[in-house]
Amino acid sequence: MNQVQCVVIGAGVVGLAVARALALSGREVLVLEAASAIGTGTSSRNSEVIHAGIYYTAGSLKARLCVSGNALLYDYCAERGIGHRRCGKLIVATTAQQLPRLQDIVAKARLNGIDNLSLLTRAQVQTLEPALTCAAAIYSPSTGIVDSHALMLSLQGDLENAAGMVVLNSPVLHAEVGPTGIDLVTVDGTQLRAKTVVNAAGLQAPELARNFMGLDPRHVPQAYFAKGNYFTLAGRAPFKHLVYPLPEGAGLGVHLTLDLGGQAKFGPDVQWVGSPFDLTVDAARGDAFYAEVRKYWPGLQDGALLPGYAGIRPKIHAPGEIGADFLIQGPRLHGVAGLVNLFGIESPGLTSALALGEYVVSSFF
Ligand SMILES: Cc1cc2nc3c(=O)[nH]c(=O)nc-3n(C[C@H](O)[C@H](O)[C@H](O)COP(=O)(O)OP(=O)(O)OC[C@H]3O[C@@H](n4cnc5c(N)ncnc54)[C@H](O)[C@@H]3O)c2cc1C
Repeated sequence: MNQVQCVVIGAGVVGLAVARALALSGREVLVLEAASAIGTGTSSRNSEVIHAGIYYTAGSLKARLCVSGNALLYDYCAERGIGHRRCGKLIVATTAQQLPRLQDIVAKARLNGIDNLSLLTRAQVQTLEPALTCAAAIYSPSTGIVDSHALMLSLQGDLENAAGMVVLNSPVLHAEVGPTGIDLVTVDGTQLRAKTVVNAAGLQAPELARNFMGLDPRHVPQAYFAKGNYFTLAGRAPFKHLVYPLPEGAGLGVHLTLDLGGQAKFGPDVQWVGSPFDLTVDAARGDAFYAEVRKYWPGLQDGALLPGYAGIRPKIHAPGEIGADFLIQGPRLHGVAGLVNLFGIESPGLTSALALGEYVVSSFF
């Protein structure tokens, strides 16, 4: 049987960042990816926003890795010439009743070490974004956007320069934990013994972990899938900043994001679905988008929203339950030497990817 030091399962932005960090630390690394290209999962179905780390519970992995990941990502993009823009974002209160929540958000962000938020009056917002209607807003200068595909290609390049490798079309079916390593079996019957395995299979990570013989299934969380639908704007948007309503439920509210070409999209909403492959966008959901967006942009014209794309959040909490933190399990927790499981790596996973890579290497290797 072929042997390798480290296998990372999944070549999304997180798997690639972990694999890169492992390879840069001098380890032999192989990434096994089910699809025929890197980054075709959730990593290419998101808002491409570099989050500041505002909303997450203080001390949580999401808060810590988002804040450090934000700084690492800006530096990395600048160093490698990866498309990105520190465009800033406005979090808007659309009614006077919502104003106290802006103060709460600023206070929460401060606990996460973010002290560059400013509160803007309606008049100040009007100067920045004349088309926007609101009672007041928070301005976050360290929020931005990134070309996620260029980022993933660069991570893959670093991995390969450090003698690592991505093997495509190689879905891992199951594994068996043995005394000298973890034996992986891919769909074509190939067997591989790895000293260490990082399960970064995104939406499929819990299902895959259940197929690891030797891992107690009690450690594997139930997977839930929360689809986020996007609608794109026909024509150019009159905004330079990202615009977010106040967060609600399992998402951040139907917000406006821009890509590097200036194309605007609205979303994602939250639609709990039964399958990780349910990626169609139901045009009928557009009605709710018009209503939500017009709360802060009354000038949105009828017929201007076109069904775009959808991504699915890899949730590990049921609808209605309190949102879960990233769940990163190593041997101390589940008792299997050499195995690290990454569960529930939803937003801000893209922002956090570089920090997640460093965290996994420093905590478990
Ligand atoms: C709607 C939405 C919006 C988001 N917006 C943002 C944002 O603006 N900013 C931000 O920071 N984060 C955002 N996120 C979160 C971010 O996109 C994810 O956290 C991140 O992409 C997760 O990357 P990943 O590598 O863990 O998973 P994925 O990208 O899903 O990669 C997992 C990979 O594993 C592969 N795989 C699965 N099973 C197997 C197997 N058995 N064998 C081999 N390979 C396998 C898959 O093919 C896939 O390529 C958003 C997420 C969603 C859903």
